[in-house]
Amino acid sequence: MVARAARATDLADLDAAVSDCFACPRLVAWREEVARVKRAAFRDQRYWGRPVPGFGAADARTAILGLAPAAHGGNRTGRIFTGDRSGDVLFAALHRAGLANQPTSVASDDGLTLRDTRIFAAVRCAPPDNKPTPAERDTCAPWLHREVALIRPTLRVVVALGAFAWAAWWPVLRDVYGVRPPSPRPAFGHGAHWSGGSAPALLGCYHVSQQNTFTGRLTPGMLDDVFARAKQLAGVD
Ligand code: SF4
Repeated sequence: MVARAARATDLADLDAAVSDCFACPRLVAWREEVARVKRAAFRDQRYWGRPVPGFGAADARTAILGLAPAAHGGNRTGRIFTGDRSGDVLFAALHRAGLANQPTSVASDDGLTLRDTRIFAAVRCAPPDNKPTPAERDTCAPWLHREVALIRPTLRVVVALGAFAWAAWWPVLRDVYGVRPPSPRPAFGHGAHWSGGSAPALLGCYHVSQQNTFTGRLTPGMLDDVFARAKQLAGVD
């Protein structure tokens, strides 16, 4: 699997390769079970039921790093943060920031495009209860690392959505940039900022999950502030 990721010469190649990954037995079983049973509201739809590749610009200066696809969102539509409430909040914010051409993301053929931005997850398959194991996170890491390597020439800022994504970034520093991760690791927090060496700046942002957005822990204004900061650090107009 590491070799397959490393062999990918461009994003299209990587997207095709990751879509055909079966390295984690528990997650393969779960993504396929969800795709078979379905949610009642989507009974008539054909679920993707496979790993979900990254999405967005190949020359992105900003990347958004999430945890994993949602069972009935990305795992259904085949595009990350697409077809679920988290995506509704995220893409509305990206549209307000001028980084998305439309405020919604409902299906892989809905015409959505991103400017200067790429979105991907630390784990590419939907996990039960949104909780990948540490072993699954580590098994999936080469896909993330290769994707970052492919956009490295332009990438300036990474927005980590939640503590899991924040923690998943440190191994990228070592493997992709040859930068020793800081020790102790900076704590995750909304608005946390780390910069070091040749690596992109890292910004922390509460995850756009319903748990945070429905309770007001994460508001549209807070997201706007994070993306304004990301654009400033990335030099995006
Ligand atoms: S989580 Fe990652 S490594 Fe595991 S099966 Fe899915 S794509 Fe492959």
